[in-house]
Amino acid sequence: VPGPELTIGVDLGGTKLLAGAVDASGTVLACERRVISGLPLPDLLAVTVAAVEKVREAVPESADAVCGFGIPALMDRRSGDAVRCVHLPLDGVDFGARIGPSLGVEVTVDNDANCAMLAEWRFGAARGASHAAMLTLGTGIGGGLILDGRLYRGALGAAAEMGHAPIDYDGPPCFGGCPGRGCLEALCSGSALARDALALARMLPDSRLGRDLAAGSAITGERVTELAHDGDPDARGLLWSLGEKLGVGLAAIAMTLNPEVLIVGGGVMAADELVLEPARAELRRRAMDPGRSAGVAAAALGPEAGMIGAALLAAGMDGTA
Ligand SMILES: [Zn+2]
Repeated sequence: VPGPELTIGVDLGGTKLLAGAVDASGTVLACERRVISGLPLPDLLAVTVAAVEKVREAVPESADAVCGFGIPALMDRRSGDAVRCVHLPLDGVDFGARIGPSLGVEVTVDNDANCAMLAEWRFGAARGASHAAMLTLGTGIGGGLILDGRLYRGALGAAAEMGHAPIDYDGPPCFGGCPGRGCLEALCSGSALARDALALARMLPDSRLGRDLAAGSAITGERVTELAHDGDPDARGLLWSLGEKLGVGLAAIAMTLNPEVLIVGGGVMAADELVLEPARAELRRRAMDPGRSAGVAAAALGPEAGMIGAALLAAGMDGTA
């Protein structure tokens, strides 16, 4: 079902937002980027409205287009509220009700990873699939599901949080206020990678990460990936181990849902096949036929996926119509 010609999508991340006018073919006609980390709610709303206004100026045909928002929060569709939002001050806030009046158009709000899944489904690595799952490996791990040709939201709107699926019974404590341990996010997120890299740097002071630490540089997931691409065996080992754990999570998803394809995106995927190869191998080792043959692919749309998906959401293109 083709949606309206032009909609505006806004992806609110923990540190920045992207707002853009997107047409029915997924083409981004104009895009605005703003830093939003640390902003209190009134400022966050004002900056978001200003970014949308700027997009409207750049693309006048979008002036009365509906707007979709992806926010990094668990949603409760009974109230419309964001229930838990770690990186933005949106806990208990009905974001659509707060921002709608300032924009003067209909607005739709959903979880940011659900939006990324929508975009990858319509225009990216899950194109043509009726059953697909997506994980976004960033600071945390977001998830999205397409089941039976529609975005799957669960009973209350909070489905697809595979990042908080427990993988290791006795694993490390999770991040972002999650009470769990050994969740996929606790093992395979950018935060987990940085934690494990720091532990390695302390344990092996003569390693390149160890020397980085001694020199006072920050031990980050990005640095691990850079060293790994450079051939550093310790950094490669960290990514290989992360990929194996990811594969355990993929096996759980594959055996539960039998998707055609499992998409992996987010900042950690700068490592690409250094993570996907062990993940795929672990999935094949642990899961049974026929589900184990699910495809494992890198996200195709990059950092604009959430914004494009938010625009698709506004256009009603989530498959539920
Ligand atoms: Zn968790």
